[in-house]
Amino acid sequence: MLSLSIRDLYYWHGTNRVLNGLDLEVEPNSLSCIVGPSGAGKTTLLKIIVGQCDASRGSVEWGGKDIKSLGSKERATAMVYQNYALFPHLTVWENVTFGLEDEGLSTVALKQRALDALKMVDAREWAQKRPQELSGGQQQRVALARALAQQPKLLLLDEPLSNLDAVARVELRQRLQRLVREQNLTILCVLHDQKDALAIADTIGVMQAGKIIQAGRPLDVYRRPLNSWLATFLGSANLFKGKILRTGAGEFIASTAIGEVRGALTTPTQEPVEGSEITICIRPECLRLDSLPPEENAFSGKIIDSVFQGDFSLHQFKTDSGVILKTAEINPRQSVGSKALVYAWAEPEDVVGLLD
Ligand code: ADP
Repeated sequence: MLSLSIRDLYYWHGTNRVLNGLDLEVEPNSLSCIVGPSGAGKTTLLKIIVGQCDASRGSVEWGGKDIKSLGSKERATAMVYQNYALFPHLTVWENVTFGLEDEGLSTVALKQRALDALKMVDAREWAQKRPQELSGGQQQRVALARALAQQPKLLLLDEPLSNLDAVARVELRQRLQRLVREQNLTILCVLHDQKDALAIADTIGVMQAGKIIQAGRPLDVYRRPLNSWLATFLGSANLFKGKILRTGAGEFIASTAIGEVRGALTTPTQEPVEGSEITICIRPECLRLDSLPPEENAFSGKIIDSVFQGDFSLHQFKTDSGVILKTAEINPRQSVGSKALVYAWAEPEDVVGLLD
């Protein structure tokens, strides 16, 4: 099985250091997603892997071999571009078979390849159409078929979901997961929307300023972000400072403006010293509202603003000490002006001490 291993990768564009010592491991037969702000170097990374751009330094190993000096074809990789890059004057069939002749395939084999690729994305019925006769989602599937017709082992996708409507997005998300399971493919996908990445990735890598700054299972990266930037990049978070009172067994107790809190250290092996400052992160959905709270991590206050969204409400909860916490209440019952005494509370494992 082939895995992708990138070490200490640098890329300069003029004086601009686009990739800055990037490390990345992609497991074989997995769906890995890279997310990061615009300009972080995500597209450049894909271009280096597919062979469209030469790295300035570092290694790109695919199946244990450094592929930097290989041509695009020898790498067994294919890339699907954000704008699909289909030829508008060619039919779907001609787009999918484009370039396959160069591989020395017989007419029968070439036809079978194209048919198989179109079948994988359920696009056979559009074979004689031109791209402009298809919706964005359908064009995306044709672009995917064209890449699959090259029979890559590693498929790279640059923001495949960003131009699609909600229904087509969900459909393509499921299709990518199926391709990995059924076609023995490895997919590395740059995504614009963190929620898409959390939903489909086996492994998510967050990129900032030319580096992967955290990678892991979506659940782990979301629940245990390394720092404040990562916490807010991946979702909504209440962040506040505390002073360490005690640590041990991967946990901490800190005094904060809302009282004493107990939580888990995001990196249990790096215990902060007593008296040092720590940044604490509690996600809104981890704060529950109750009139009978547990003994620890419970903060009394009231709801001062609320946005009702049907299945849940987003509240602004003002603690008695004046700190405002965002809370998300599923199956909402509380609202602004509620006379009931309310506590917001969180399980210690949902209160995270970050490395800031
Ligand atoms: P992302 O995909 O994360 O938005 P890119 O890889 O497209 O980031 O670009 C990262 C940085 O590299 C940007 O600051 C961009 O200006 C620069 N860059 C990359 N390629 C070029 C190029 N061909 N010309 C000028 N700048 C480039």
